[in-house]
Order: sequence, then structure tokens, then C-alpha cells
Amino acid sequence: MTAEILYGKPIAAATEEEVRQRADRLADRMGRRPQLTAVLVGEDPASQVYVRNKENACRRAGIDGNVLRLPADVSQSRLLETVESLNADHAVDGILVQLPLPQHIDEREVLDAIDPLKDVDGFHPLNVGLLAQGRPRFVPCTPLGILELLRMHRIDVAGKHAVVVGRSDIVGKPMALLLVQRKSAIPGGPDNATVTVCHSRTPDLADIIRQADLLVVAVGRPRVVNGDMVKPGSVVIDVGINRVDGKLVGDVDFDSVATVSSAITPVPGGVGRLTVAMLLKNTLAAAESRSL
Ligand code: NDP
Repeated sequence: MTAEILYGKPIAAATEEEVRQRADRLADRMGRRPQLTAVLVGEDPASQVYVRNKENACRRAGIDGNVLRLPADVSQSRLLETVESLNADHAVDGILVQLPLPQHIDEREVLDAIDPLKDVDGFHPLNVGLLAQGRPRFVPCTPLGILELLRMHRIDVAGKHAVVVGRSDIVGKPMALLLVQRKSAIPGGPDNATVTVCHSRTPDLADIIRQADLLVVAVGRPRVVNGDMVKPGSVVIDVGINRVDGKLVGDVDFDSVATVSSAITPVPGGVGRLTVAMLLKNTLAAAESRSL
């Protein structure tokens, strides 16, 4: 079997176009564009690239993207004051604090300080709680992008066994919460999967992975899943971004898995592009709901 390759780029481009049109309409109505402010602490090279990608995507989609740069030794209280001032700024629709933060910063306290109505990353406990209860407001961008990818490719997971490898608050947990929903978080999107979540303490990981009709891998280790481990005909979503010998590779060994699965996302060019597109969508939704 040779898998269909699930590219993120065309879906991201269509999303950007849709956001641009709605942002234009909002600008006509409100006299200003949706505005997203990213807070970037320190000089982490990967974070700088991610923030630059988000700025570029904002530009393409007609969203005002601002970056507030703070030094790596910024104090907890100064960072909290920055978040508070963005919460109070009526011109700001969406706030994101680029992770990871330096070790001396209490990340949870900072994320908790973001106004839940401007929390376009969907990490605030109120938004996490709403998602858990099946009435999501802002959904974390990476799993939201994966839902969109599955919807666009008409991949139905109802009654299927979805295995999510990784239990982070950013990817694994919200992914599992979304797949298990009775009603999809996006119209026409996937729902009603039977979900298993695995992590570094899961015994017999390969046996569980082999049962997956849909496999989502968000581990952060190159090629932890190979073709011998996956079920023939399964759909494999590779979230991982790892740098090996200067090249970006996923958590899945693409070449061996692509001969067994029916569909697979590439790295790069798969989930990553969609993550940024969903951030734009969340920012637009924040602006639209604040303009009502
Ligand atoms: P985290 O490090 O927060 O979580 C990794 C998870 O994988 C943990 O739950 C960990 O288990 C589990 N894990 C680690 N090693 C193994 C193993 N050998 N077997 C099974 N499970 C294991 O990472 P993130 O969720 O933030 O990110 C995961 C990957 O996705 C990274 O490569 C990251 O760069 C990428 N990513 C990509 C995005 C995109 O847009 N494409 C967006 C966000 C992330 P435990 O909890 O027990 O430690």
C-alpha cells in the first residue's frame, strides 16, 4: 500500500483566505483589523522562528500581528504586568505567550493570567474546562488543525479506535478530548472515536499503536513509530518536529509507515502549517465575538 499524503499547506492557504475575507469585513464594520499580540521572552532560536512564521501568516490573512519582545531575565511580575496590560488593551483581540518560557518563570501562572476571552492558544483553564465539557470556545491550535485536516480529507473516526501518543496540555490531551466528543468541535468534523492515550510510562506501546485506526503521534522524538508498529490501512498523523543532522523530521518514520498506512502527514508540510492557520482562525473568532 502507498499512503495518501495529507498536506497541510493547501488547507492552511484556504483558511488564511477565509480569515482574510472575514477580517476585511470586520475592518469595514469596526474600523480596525483583528489584532494578535505575541509575547516572546528571550532569544530561543526555535521560538523566534515560530513567532516570525506567525507574524508572516497574520500579514497574509489581514490580521495585525504584534510581537512584544522581553529579555530572557525578565521577572515573573514584569511578565504578569505585561499580560495584564494586554488584557486591558481594547485594541488587542488575541494574546499568545510563546512557549517555552525561561526556567525561572512560572509558566502556569502566566498562562492563567491571560484573559480567557483573548486566549487564542486555548491554554487557559477555563477554555480547557469548556473543551472537556464538550462546549469548546478556543481550542489549542495543533489539535484543531488536525481536526480540520481530517474533515477536509473526509476521514471519519466515529466508532474507530484512535490512539494518541503523548499527553501534553498543548497537543496530546486536547487531541484526545476532541476525538472523543459526541459532537465535533468543528461543523462536519470528526467525533465519536474510541480513544486511547499513551505516554512514556505506557507498557507495550507498540501493541497499542498496532490497534489504531487513527494514530496521532506527539512525542518529540524522531522516528519512535515505524512501519512494523502500525495497522495496515490506518491514518497516521505526525505532530513531531525534530531536527536531525540539520533536517526536520517527525516522530514517525515516514518511509516505512507510508508503505503500510492508508494516509500520512509529512514533516515538514503537514500539521505545522495548520497550527498557525488555526491561530489566525481563533484570533478572528476572538475579534468577532468582542465586536458583537
Ligand atoms: P511534550 O514534551 O510536552 O510531550 C511529549 C509527550 O510524549 C509526553 O506526554 C511524554 O510522556 C510522551 N513521550 C515521550 N517519550 C515517549 C516515548 N518514548 N513513548 C511514548 N510517549 C513518549 O511535547 P509536545 O506535546 O509539546 O510536542 C510533541 C512534539 O510535537 C514535539 O516534537 C513538538 O515540537 C511537536 N509540536 C509540533 C507542533 C506543530 O505545529 N506541528 C505544535 C506543538 C508541538 P510523559 O508525559 O510521560 O513525559
